[in-house]
Formats: sequence, structure tokens, C-alpha cells
Amino acid sequence: MALKDVVERIRKEEARVGRDVGSTKLIAVSKLQPLERIRGALNAGHRLFGENRVQEAAGKWPALRKEYPDLSLHLIGPLQTNKARQAIRLFDAIESLDRPKLANALARLQEETGLCPPLYVQVNTGEEPQKTGVMPLEADSFIAESRRLELPLVGLMCIPPLDEEPSLHFALLAKIAARNGLKELSMGMSGDFEKAIAQGATSVRVGSAVFGDRIESISGGL
Ligand SMILES: *Cc1c(COP(=O)(O)O)cnc(C)c1O
Repeated sequence: MALKDVVERIRKEEARVGRDVGSTKLIAVSKLQPLERIRGALNAGHRLFGENRVQEAAGKWPALRKEYPDLSLHLIGPLQTNKARQAIRLFDAIESLDRPKLANALARLQEETGLCPPLYVQVNTGEEPQKTGVMPLEADSFIAESRRLELPLVGLMCIPPLDEEPSLHFALLAKIAARNGLKELSMGMSGDFEKAIAQGATSVRVGSAVFGDRIESISGGL
């Protein structure tokens, strides 16, 4: 099973770069994957998954959670403020905190409900206009403001530009996290997770290398 191969590659890279073997978490990205593949991973004992859309996650994970109460689900895609209330109940972590409006919405919900999952600030390390995430130069002040709102920040997340060496982006993310005292680094996907581990990733988000190609027609593509 590909899941096992990916786990082996992660452990091998941890050993190669002198990190504790077993210290990198694998977030199996299950967006647009057939349910039987997700069940295959659950049956194999995997419990940490990532989804990039609230609606899609709401359609499949509540039922699976009943069967596997110990699973953990991360939101890794953009969150609209009008879906924030739904998201704080559905996800065990939100990795896409990317703007003041969303920080304010989550803070208000936390005040009202007492609930907010651990949060990752998404940084647009490539400063790409079409991508979400705070700009690297704005990251420190955004993190400070989110802390002032008493949001439970745990780390940073990034998606490097497709056409650039990802290691530079991973290193930048690690630097911003270190100077802000944030421990978790969510970085690296199917094509570059080994490079992310070398730069200190604490979790890698791997979809197609674990599950195979996505069925883009499930929700009309990305
Ligand atoms: C889809 C997705 C991934 C996984 O992508 P693969 O290339 O299939 O590993 C990782 N992170 C985010 C934010 C995604 O949307």
C-alpha cells in the first residue's frame, strides 16, 4: 500500500537528516478521493487526515468519526468567515488562518462557544497574488495580533510556488516560526515532502502519493 511507502520515505528522510525518527506527522490529504481509499487508510491504522473544503469534509467525515472516534482532521484550504462556525466543530485543527477578518471571526466564535481548534497561520511565502496566506513581511504583526485575540496558534503552513525551489520557501517558513516561538511547521506535499522534512517540517500534507490520483469530477476540480 502506498501509505506504507510514504511513511517509510518519511522515516528514512528523518534518519538521513538527523531528526528523531517518527517526529514528522503524516497528514493524509483525502480531498476528492473515493471513500474506499480513505477507508483503506483507516483500516491500516492511519488517523490523521486533511481536507481543503468545509463542504466536502462535512459530507464524509462526521460518519467516519463515529466509527473512528480517535481520528483527527485538519482543514488545509481557505476558510470563508461564514463557514467558520461549522469549521470549528468539524476540524481538529485549522491550518489556513490567513487574514485579520478570519482571525476576528474565530475570536468572536471562541468567546461565544469556548471552542477553537489549534490554528496554523498560512504564509504566502512566494508572495503570489493568486494565493491566500499572509505576506512574509506581515507575518510577525499578524501573529502578534492573533495572539492578542487569544487564538490558539500552534504553527505555520505554506504552499510554495510550483515553479520555484521549495526548500527556500520551507526555510523561510521555519525562520518565521522560530522567531515567533511557534513549534509546528506544516509543509511539504507529494512532490517535495522529503525536502520539507530536511527543513524541519513537523507535519507533511501528502495526497496523491498516498491515495493515487484524485477524482477531480467529485466537486468540479480545484
Ligand atoms: C491537495 C493539497 C495537498 C496534497 O497535495 P498532493 O500533491 O496530492 O500531495 C497538500 N496541501 C494542500 C493545501 C492541498 O490543497
